[in-house]
Amino acid sequence: MRLIDADKLPKNTGYAVSASEVAMAVENAPTVDAVPLVRARWYWDAYKYDWCCDNCFHPADHHIDKDDAYNMPSFPFCPHCGADMREPNLDTTKGDNHD
Ligand SMILES: [Zn+2]
Repeated sequence: MRLIDADKLPKNTGYAVSASEVAMAVENAPTVDAVPLVRARWYWDAYKYDWCCDNCFHPADHHIDKDDAYNMPSFPFCPHCGADMREPNLDTTKGDNHD
């Protein structure tokens, strides 16, 4: 996979373009040095008696005492696999998904 910056693509001029022109613009767009974002959520695992990441299935291991075990972890990222546990903001018009 090659990530590109959509802001670097030619802007919509209102004129029709061919599929090959679009493909060439995408092909010529500079590669962005970035890592794809992995999103996950916490789920309660009664057998492990802990909240677990649904990407790597590791327990969060966040509780110090059992009274705290029922509270969902507040980590923004899974401490085991690094998955983003924050709720996604799907407004893509601003460029950054977490503002
Ligand atoms: Zn994980």
